[in-house]
Amino acid sequence: MPHEPIIVVGGGMLGAALARRLAPHRPVIVLEAGASLGGLTSTHDLVTAEGAVVPVDRFYHVILSSDRRVRAWLAELGLAEELDFRPVGSTVVAAGVAYPAASLAQMAGLPFLSVLDRMRIAASIGIGALAPPGPWFSRVPAQRWLRTVAGSSAAGAFWDPLLRAKLGPYASQVSSNFLHATFSRLLTARLAGGGADLFSVVPGGYRRILAEATRQLEDLGVQVVLNAEVTEVSGRPHGVRVRYRNGTAEHELTAAHAVLTTPATVTARILPGLSEQSRALLRSIPHLGVINVTALLRRAPDPAYLTYIVDDADITSVIGMHTLIPPQLTAGRYLVHLPRYCAPEDPIFEDTDEVIEKRFLSALRTVYPGVGPDDVEAVRVARARYVMPVPLLGAPAPPPVDLGIDNVSYIGSAQLEGGTLNVEATLELAGRLLPDALGTGRGVS
Ligand SMILES: Cc1cc2nc3c(=O)[nH]c(=O)nc-3n(C[C@H](O)[C@H](O)[C@H](O)COP(=O)(O)OP(=O)(O)OC[C@H]3O[C@@H](n4cnc5c(N)ncnc54)[C@H](O)[C@@H]3O)c2cc1C
Repeated sequence: MPHEPIIVVGGGMLGAALARRLAPHRPVIVLEAGASLGGLTSTHDLVTAEGAVVPVDRFYHVILSSDRRVRAWLAELGLAEELDFRPVGSTVVAAGVAYPAASLAQMAGLPFLSVLDRMRIAASIGIGALAPPGPWFSRVPAQRWLRTVAGSSAAGAFWDPLLRAKLGPYASQVSSNFLHATFSRLLTARLAGGGADLFSVVPGGYRRILAEATRQLEDLGVQVVLNAEVTEVSGRPHGVRVRYRNGTAEHELTAAHAVLTTPATVTARILPGLSEQSRALLRSIPHLGVINVTALLRRAPDPAYLTYIVDDADITSVIGMHTLIPPQLTAGRYLVHLPRYCAPEDPIFEDTDEVIEKRFLSALRTVYPGVGPDDVEAVRVARARYVMPVPLLGAPAPPPVDLGIDNVSYIGSAQLEGGTLNVEATLELAGRLLPDALGTGRGVS
């Protein structure tokens, strides 16, 4: 095994997956800015009135029965046996009324749509998922595609509000690539579930998964440095120099190669040797951010896992995690997530946690008036500005692995093309792009 290490910058799922693949062949150091591995999958604690501490994902994470890479990795960690896939339901809230909408039969009963509209909505999901992807998908606006396939009235009453809720200011600019990627994931999951959406979580959530993943990396000899914010990565003809900050202390490491998994904006900032063109490309990638309120409730708002909100609201949806995590694992309370997807520059990012809690819980009570203020027992806010690259019309091709700097490679979520971010896609990206970084030329050798 060569002795010069490879440095992986960023210890989210992508960084962890790359480190795991590299470790049998090379010494590996992971530099992670946060206090634990995990990035978007990391967790925080909610505390009940009696002082019970309930660790929960900062952002909600489920595993689909079709997530074969995630399941294979959980098997390596000894956790796959604990997955308990269950059918989940969904609800649509329109004009303040909640309608069950998990199956085609239930969709067919949505009273605010005509029979023809309901059929065309179902058809648009199937056609969008099964149509062979081609360059034309990236040139057609998603809204226009939905109008053509589902018709104007179904698009206006159903798809447009959902696109606005999910994509905020990007709804009218997003390409049909987004629909293809989203519908394909839905359909693949439904086929894998024999006609039902089967979702699961590992009991204990990502905190447990990350604990086992950390142990796995340690067993493989990977050195994980936490609270290590990388400030500069410079390529050298025979290696790379990485500077990072740990509290107030500045550190410097040299290595054979560095693989960056950081968000595109961070990557543009920490690589001083980038050409202006590459820097501009990384900075121009439009991203969605997310603010998520996690709450423990004394009563379940709805028996559905997912509530789509067609009405204008401060939240995009209600995620009823209590349908997958039985209340006995969350101190007898019902766990829900209230996400809002928005642009990174949305002023809501500047609001205090208290303001966000108030707005989001008020939106929850508008959707589910049965949940009173006294039913909310513990609340936490999580925010991330640069989460998901959005495939806009005419967007440039994703950034390459080789950004033109000796001994530096970039593998990051900005290279996901469809605009659907999930751990399965993240693991697929790690497997697909690592050989490029491992190749000859500027790759890891
Ligand atoms: C609201 C929400 C819901 C989701 N739901 C699901 C779901 O149900 N199922 C599913 O499979 N997936 C889900 N995902 C997606 C999943 O979280 C991602 O696919 C995955 O976590 C992406 O991992 P990553 O490593 O690419 O990115 P990140 O997790 O963002 O990791 C990047 C890492 O880089 C670190 N970093 C940044 N800057 C520096 C620096 N200068 N120096 C060192 N380190 C740095 C960060 O701290 C972070 O740990 C969801 C995501 C969100 C936001």
